[in-house]
Amino acid sequence: MADKVLTIVVPCYDEQEVLHETSKLLKNIIDDLIEQNKISVNSKILFVNDGSKDKTWEIIEQLQSQEKVFTGIRLSRNFGHQNAVMAGLSRAVWYSDMMITIDADLQDDIQKIYEMVDNFYQGFDIVYGVRNNRDTDTGFKRTTAEAYYWLMTKMGVNLIPDHADYRLMSKRAVEALLEYHEENLFLRGIVPELGFNTTKVYYKRKERFAGESHYPLKKMLSLAINGITSFTIAPIKVILYLGILMVLYGGGALVLLGLTHHMSDYRSLINSLWLLGGIQLITLSIIGTYVGKVFNDVKKRPRFIIEDDTYSDSMKKVR
Ligand code: UDP
Ligand code: MG
Repeated sequence: MADKVLTIVVPCYDEQEVLHETSKLLKNIIDDLIEQNKISVNSKILFVNDGSKDKTWEIIEQLQSQEKVFTGIRLSRNFGHQNAVMAGLSRAVWYSDMMITIDADLQDDIQKIYEMVDNFYQGFDIVYGVRNNRDTDTGFKRTTAEAYYWLMTKMGVNLIPDHADYRLMSKRAVEALLEYHEENLFLRGIVPELGFNTTKVYYKRKERFAGESHYPLKKMLSLAINGITSFTIAPIKVILYLGILMVLYGGGALVLLGLTHHMSDYRSLINSLWLLGGIQLITLSIIGTYVGKVFNDVKKRPRFIIEDDTYSDSMKKVR
């Protein structure tokens, strides 16, 4: 058992306030697991610096000079949370038997790592961390999140409710994940598509330890839209039905008008112009979003660019 390598992948964007605490707590867990003979002494904590503007990379460098369990990857600029996770996994998969992804801000219960590792040994390839309450989220975030999961499921997208990006994956699960080359990856939607033997561990999500959320409303909205448009063309079908309904209504009204000779009020005419114009713009933008996705994907641009990789350097040494 003790020869299985665990790598904990931590995406970091401007996390100077939390890194010291996070690294200390994660190291304790790794040490513990090594002591219990559950993981190899070559297990690592891999910080992926996603183009931070603050001292995040300096802190990571300092950490790795102190303890060999700390390693880092520095992306050449900010590529976004999902791509930072993928960058970390793309390297970790070379040397690890299991990988855990977790945010840097200690919102997810790191004590659940023990349970995740136990599940790995019971034969599970993917272990989802699932929040069993959202007390720390605002009422607004909670309602919108619930509505979103509901909508996604209705449209046929397989999402694990209340699961974010805290999960354990085996080497072969990560290898399968890396086969998905699409741009603007929505991990939460793709991981359940992989199949494999999966299970869940439940935890209570805490407040951010320090610093600020990097997911303001605008980013949340764009992640949500990306999630939908990456997995289903249901919105385009909705447009069709909407169009049919409108034609029926408009046609019917015309026939009635023709029969009764009623002149309609000009205000209702202006209102319906606005309504129709708005609906047209929305439908155009829905189609445009899909076309834009094709545009982005045909270019096959890299999802991330690695500038420094002290993780691989350190793993090559132990091999
Ligand atoms: N993050 C990142 N790149 C970004 C934005 C965020 O790597 O462009 C990281 C961030 O450092 C954190 C995780 O992704 O470890 C989740 O971000 P955050 O905690 O700000 O989001 P929230 O928990 O509020 O949804
Ligand atoms: Mg957070």
